[in-house]
Amino acid sequence: MRNRIIMILLALSFALTCQFGVKAASKAASTAKQEETAAAAKKKTTKKKKVRTVFVAAGHQQRGISSTERYAPKGSGTKAKLTSGTAGVSTHIPEYKTNLAIAKAVQKELKKRGYKVIMLRTTNNCPLSNQQRTKKANKSGADIHICIHCDSAGYASGPHTCVPASSVYVGKSVYNKTLRLASLVLSSTAKAVGKKSHGTIRSNYYTTINWAKIPTFILECGYMSNPTEDRQLNSSSYQKKLAKGIANGVDKYFK
Ligand SMILES: [Zn+2]
Repeated sequence: MRNRIIMILLALSFALTCQFGVKAASKAASTAKQEETAAAAKKKTTKKKKVRTVFVAAGHQQRGISSTERYAPKGSGTKAKLTSGTAGVSTHIPEYKTNLAIAKAVQKELKKRGYKVIMLRTTNNCPLSNQQRTKKANKSGADIHICIHCDSAGYASGPHTCVPASSVYVGKSVYNKTLRLASLVLSSTAKAVGKKSHGTIRSNYYTTINWAKIPTFILECGYMSNPTEDRQLNSSSYQKKLAKGIANGVDKYFK
């Protein structure tokens, strides 16, 4: 009888130890799993929050630079280092001032949406050639480079873009990304200002584009030779619409 009681007690104690052992092991496993899930969630959040950088370049400055430079990395063709741009037929405001006002509106809008923005210039004094401007953008660490301009061609209206005609100078990858970016920004901008896009110029003759190592294109926001559009381009409400449209296109590109 005594032996039997001892046996029962031993069996009971063994069973209890085993149960606790299993519980401890399962608790450890569940903690490890929770930690793993938390790490995965953190990784996902970090990936989502990657900050994109946009280089915003207001075209021209207070004076042109008539000495020349090579307009492309290959070949020997040269062009003026910097042209002086157009001026408003109605407002008489020089293009470099309008470009800067629009670029500042774009900077504000992109920052509001969480982008890092690097400005080529924040004043009208920026005596860098087109080649130097693009080299600055290449080295800036930016993902994309948008050159803000306004054009002149009678009563034409609406925004248009200038992109490379082929991948000969910028390479296949930058070329493909540039076309996609320019097309998204052009359609979003036209929509935001309620105008028809004036299309896309494909040319291998733009110094600013040919020296690019990141997607780089020219956005001509409208025509300063058109009196109505000249006044719009120089009004802060229209500049805000342009900025929203450009930012919508950038959002789509990075989505
Ligand atoms: Zn221009």
